[in-house]
Amino acid sequence: MTHVDAVLCDIDGCLCPETSAPMDAPALARIGALNREAIAQGRAGLALCSGRPQPFVEAMARLLGCRLPCIAENGVWLYDPRTNAYDRDPAITPAHLAMVREAGAWVESQLGPRGVVIQPGKTASISLYHPDAAYLRSIEGMVRTAFAACGWSFRISMTWFYINCDLAHISKGTGIDRWSRLTGIPRDRLAGVGDTPGDLAIADRVAFFACPANAHDEVKRRASWVAPEPEAAGTESALAAMLRS
Ligand SMILES: [Mg+2]
Repeated sequence: MTHVDAVLCDIDGCLCPETSAPMDAPALARIGALNREAIAQGRAGLALCSGRPQPFVEAMARLLGCRLPCIAENGVWLYDPRTNAYDRDPAITPAHLAMVREAGAWVESQLGPRGVVIQPGKTASISLYHPDAAYLRSIEGMVRTAFAACGWSFRISMTWFYINCDLAHISKGTGIDRWSRLTGIPRDRLAGVGDTPGDLAIADRVAFFACPANAHDEVKRRASWVAPEPEAAGTESALAAMLRS
C-alpha cells in the first residue's frame, strides 16, 4: 500500500451497528487513538462519510478526534470539526428545499397514519422509517411511483431499515468531490472504508478500499481488503493497516 494520508469512512455498519444496538465503545476508543496517532505523525487522518444527519456525524467526528471535514446526509453537508463550519452543497437551491418539504408533507399525510415516520435531523433529504422493515420494503415501489407522479426528482433507495429519498443530483460521490476540492488531498493518498452499495462512491474515489466482514458481497468484491471482523472491530483492523503502513 502507498502512503495513506486520509481515510474516508462510512459510519453505519462500519463504526456503529446497523441497528440501534449499543456501539462498541472500546473499539471506537481504539479507533480514536489510531486517528490521533496518525495525526501526530503528520497525516490528515480519519474523515467520516455518512448518510446520517449532520448532528450524528458531528458527534462521531468529535468522539474520534477527526481534524478533517466530514460528509453528512449523503453529500448534503460538509461539516468541519476544526472550525464548526456547516457547508451545504450550493447545488441545493431553495426550489430543491421546497420540494423536500412538499414530499415530507406528503409522507406525513399519506404514510403517517400507517406508522411511517420521517427520521429526525435531515434537512435536504427524507428517510422513512417503520418498525416493520418488511412493511417498509413493501411500500418502496409505491413511494417511488408517487414521487415520480408528483414530479419530485429524488433517488429512492432501500437500506436495511430505511427508505432513503435523496436529491437526485446529491450523493456521497458529489460530497467526496467537494471534500477533495476543499482538502486538496489527492486520490492516490486516500483510502476508504464502507459496507453497502452507496459506499462504492467511496471505492471509486480512493486508492485503497477496505470493508468490514459484514459488508454486502457487491462491496466486498470491490474491496482491496476485507477485514475478518465485522463493524467497528473490522474497521479498526482496516484503519490500523492503512494508517500505520
Ligand atoms: Mg454503512
